[in-house]
Amino acid sequence: MHAWLKQTIRVLASAWLCAASMPAIADELAIVGARLYTAPDAAAIERGTVLVRDGRIAAVGPTADIAVPRGAAVVDAQGAVLTAGFWNSHVHLLPPPLRDARRATAPELDAALQAMLTRWGFTAVFDIGSLPGGARALRRRIDTGEVAGPMILTTDALFFPEGGTPIYVRELFQQLNVPSMEVASAAQAQSRARLQLADGADGVKMMAGAIVGGPVGVLPMDRTIAAALVDEAHRQHKPAFAHPTTLQGLDISITSGVDVLAHPTPTEGPWSPELVKRLTDRRMALTPTLTLIEIELKNDSAPPDVVQRFVAAGQQQVGAFARAGGQVLFGTDVGYIEWFDTRREYELMAGAGLDWRAILASLTTAPAERFGHAARKGRIAVGMDADLVLLRRDPATDPAAFADVKTTWRAGRVIYDARAR
Ligand SMILES: [Zn+2]
Repeated sequence: MHAWLKQTIRVLASAWLCAASMPAIADELAIVGARLYTAPDAAAIERGTVLVRDGRIAAVGPTADIAVPRGAAVVDAQGAVLTAGFWNSHVHLLPPPLRDARRATAPELDAALQAMLTRWGFTAVFDIGSLPGGARALRRRIDTGEVAGPMILTTDALFFPEGGTPIYVRELFQQLNVPSMEVASAAQAQSRARLQLADGADGVKMMAGAIVGGPVGVLPMDRTIAAALVDEAHRQHKPAFAHPTTLQGLDISITSGVDVLAHPTPTEGPWSPELVKRLTDRRMALTPTLTLIEIELKNDSAPPDVVQRFVAAGQQQVGAFARAGGQVLFGTDVGYIEWFDTRREYELMAGAGLDWRAILASLTTAPAERFGHAARKGRIAVGMDADLVLLRRDPATDPAAFADVKTTWRAGRVIYDARAR
């Protein structure tokens, strides 16, 4: 047989096999019998059914009231809990192979996304700093359906003060030949922001206080540059994120009009009611990243009492902010830290005083609203995207159950299933 014929047969056969072995994407999907938490402020539906058609939610209600159409794929979800898909609003698509999305194979990307994100229920993430163009390359491969992953929003390359490339990325960026992300003037910050946003970035992220080490320690972002950068994002109706580090960095973030604080400032003691009021008056949001504090200090072999002190400071800040009505967005800094398991973050958020409904809001409605997706995401309701998470246990009894994910769907397609592993 001619080589080309053999090749053709092989290609056709594998395409056929592929199609046959793919999980059937039935026109309709019915998830039957779960306890439904349709939104953080809604009453539970004890035994509910969600009907999915063409990637959207077509019906939702008590199982007794909803007829499952003939031919629909049925998932028996009795004993489990169904919520809207989760958002992680602070990730970095930096670990290989995710940062090499142009070259990596689809199975490699699938496996990495599963380990880091979809296995924990994430159907949407905000990447707030990775290699230039990297997140957008990954997004393209997910959006074509080639790779199973969450919706990706990204700030693309970061903005550092001049001479302020943080000590913890310096070596990596050098090794990978990444162009400098430092900005020396307002004009330079604005023109790069304009380019990145035109290329498809969904926001900007700056180091308001860059950890440079040495005698300088933390280098603040120039206030004029910070304000120019935020203005440019706002002109295009995009959010600005900031890593504050210190009280000075917080002040720069507040006065420049930043929308989302990427971390609390655990080395700066408790946040006063006055400071919290400044943050909430400006309707700022915060990603808690409490696990990060614990992990970083443990990695530095800090004594347990020191770890405990800084984690407690972070919890005080997150708790005071949330009690004052501040918008908390679930976020862990995963991809910077290699700790993928979200269980500890839920425990620490609960310890900061957030109840399970507040945590669910931080995972669903709050980020959907903040980032302009509330019309399609964040709740289980007719017409919304079928981004869904099935949990083995009830987070109302134990918030750590948000980490016990059985199945994750994005637009009605399974992007993680515990049984298939
Ligand atoms: Zn980060």
